[in-house]
Amino acid sequence: MSAVSPLKQTDGAIFDLIEKETEYQKKTLRLIASENYASKAVMEATGSILTNKYAEGYPKKRYYAGNKYVDEIELLAIERAKKLFGVGHANVQPHSGASANIAAFFAFLDVGNKFMGLDLPHGGHLTHGSPVNFSGKWFKPVSYSVEKDTEALDYDKIRKRAIEEKPKLIICGYTAYSLIIDFKAFRGICDEVGATMMCDISHFAGLIAGGVYPSPAPYADIITSTTHKTLRGPRGAMIMCPEANAQRIDKAIFPGMQGGPLENVIAAKAVCYHEAMQPDFKTYAAQIVKNAKVLAEELSSKGLRLVAGKTETHLILLDLTAKGITGRDAQAALEEAGIIANRNTVPFDTRSPFVTSGLRLGTPALTTRGMKEGEMKHIADLIVKVIENPNDSALKLKVRGEAEGLCERFPIYKE
Ligand SMILES: *Cc1c(COP(=O)(O)O)cnc(C)c1O
Repeated sequence: MSAVSPLKQTDGAIFDLIEKETEYQKKTLRLIASENYASKAVMEATGSILTNKYAEGYPKKRYYAGNKYVDEIELLAIERAKKLFGVGHANVQPHSGASANIAAFFAFLDVGNKFMGLDLPHGGHLTHGSPVNFSGKWFKPVSYSVEKDTEALDYDKIRKRAIEEKPKLIICGYTAYSLIIDFKAFRGICDEVGATMMCDISHFAGLIAGGVYPSPAPYADIITSTTHKTLRGPRGAMIMCPEANAQRIDKAIFPGMQGGPLENVIAAKAVCYHEAMQPDFKTYAAQIVKNAKVLAEELSSKGLRLVAGKTETHLILLDLTAKGITGRDAQAALEEAGIIANRNTVPFDTRSPFVTSGLRLGTPALTTRGMKEGEMKHIADLIVKVIENPNDSALKLKVRGEAEGLCERFPIYKE
């Protein structure tokens, strides 16, 4: 920030904390699979004057006056989203992934209806049926799981479970599943039991946009996604669907559950869709997956166990049970060493979600910094050292120095 920062003049406390957070982001290796670094262009739009405007409703059908430019912005965002993902309709107003999912449920279910999602300890999201979430409180979740031996989905078993349970809606798309999902198989199952097919692509939307992950667009009745994960846009979300479902979706967002849209964030989403249409985004998406594969292979060759045996995406789930360390302790030791990752349950975990036996790693953020296969090998080495010696303070200090060195060579923003 410049010396004449209005924020610094108005609120020194928040200014200082943002400065500290900036340094912290710059100097640490971020392997949180759901995080990324938005471009300066995306942040400029997010921080723009559009935050001042009320625009309840949709373009050309607003409840407030004065929306001629805001309408153009939202229409551009919608057009780009449709083109990027090859869908008939896009709603770019959801404030977050969770609120997009609430709207999806309200569009296709009545309170109390049964739906099916992946069991949370197996990689499903909170909004896919957790008892402490709206999805588990207001609706009736039944779950499917991964197989004990392969730790992969078995589509025949999911089909049998769907025939038994007859859910009105089935969700696919997860937060901690490292393999590619067979969307066509889900379409078949949904057709057989008369269920709505909902696909939550929050984690891998950027991989779809970059052409390195199959698209559910030809199959799904409804697609929800965040915009800030692999897609690398502003913090927010979107819903896509075939044209036939457009009205139900739009009504569920507004007036169903949101008021005024965040037009500054919608402008930033438009910027992110534009960025994702450029040729270098394809290179980026491909590199995310290459990096994840190399990181996974290196960790595995050094004796760490990969859940499902491999990754086909941006994320890696490690089962640390054999290493005698919990996910919680591994996360804490790595954090001290300047490596930021998150603990995660593994399928059939015997520990609580607060402790866990697993660690989830992802490569979207490191790849945005420009890191490639060589750096992944180096980072795998650092991770293994820390996990094998979580109480060695001298080692953690040394690793932190190496992490900072890598960060210096690959700055987040190249001014
Ligand atoms: C991240 C995520 C969400 C929630 O997104 P928020 O913006 O954090 O509310 C929903 N579903 C899946 C699969 C996710 O990975």
